[in-house]
Amino acid sequence: MLRRPTTPTVWARRPWVCTQCRARYSSVAPASNLRAGNNNTINKKTKLPDSPARTRFAPSPTGYLHLGSLRTALFNYLLAKRTGGQFLLRIEDTDQKRTIPDAEQRLYDDLRWAGLHWDEGPVVGGPYGPYRQSERTAIYRSHAQELIENGHAYRCFCSADRLDAFARHRSQAGLPAGYDRKCGEVSAEESEERAAKGEAHVVRLKVEGYPMFNDLVYGKTGQNRSPNKLDLIERVYDDPILIKSDGHPTYHLANVVDDHLMKITHVIRGTVSCDGRDAKEDAQAHTLIRNGCPRPPCTSRSTTPSSGRLRSSATYLC
Ligand SMILES: [Zn+2]
Repeated sequence: MLRRPTTPTVWARRPWVCTQCRARYSSVAPASNLRAGNNNTINKKTKLPDSPARTRFAPSPTGYLHLGSLRTALFNYLLAKRTGGQFLLRIEDTDQKRTIPDAEQRLYDDLRWAGLHWDEGPVVGGPYGPYRQSERTAIYRSHAQELIENGHAYRCFCSADRLDAFARHRSQAGLPAGYDRKCGEVSAEESEERAAKGEAHVVRLKVEGYPMFNDLVYGKTGQNRSPNKLDLIERVYDDPILIKSDGHPTYHLANVVDDHLMKITHVIRGTVSCDGRDAKEDAQAHTLIRNGCPRPPCTSRSTTPSSGRLRSSATYLC
């Protein structure tokens, strides 16, 4: 599949670690260990699971498969195969406006070219389908309804104008963004009645705090936001949107519901970029490219060639 370069000097180089990852490692290991690539602490955490792993690759067909995503798929595939588990493919096509018509077919072609054949997913099927999120809307709505009924979510009827005005007010006051949970006070009866009458709304998750979780690479981590002195001025909440006003789910809901129903045991994904943004809040494990490709792992769609382009130009990596 991927041809190893013949020049031994490439493999003799030190593993490349981006500044963001280096900062994280420094909290668990001496920098000298990182430079030498022999971090025992991290090696212990990367022990293979004892039971078969069910992993998934869940791209959005809003662009062609780029090299970073192909690498993420490879890690998921390898963990599943090494442990006797299954590798799933799920198409996260809830953003219909940005969907590119031939992206899904190109994705299939690219994965097959790379030898990453999926055990469950579109085309091949499986026991937990459908594997296209656009075909699972009813499932997400039923879970959102369940969350509303047990008090973990609520309907928000705020207009875009009100939310814009609130955001402007916070910004002008030098306060961080957030939602004031105005609609959290709406009674269950009134909420049902207004929804039944067709009043536009979204569904928000009621967040009092985020639990810490064990990331197999980074250890115990999480986003633990506790009230601070700015909250004394005006309390706001994260309360992310789960169902949009058009009735479609957001990533936050669909992703979690699907992973739960499809019995995914391990989520492997890469950090998003090197510019300070990081997707680790909702990740359970991150790929850690320490001893693999000598090139930096920090890539984006704008700078990374698509795997289709590599395929057509017969370029091989690593
Ligand atoms: Zn509201």
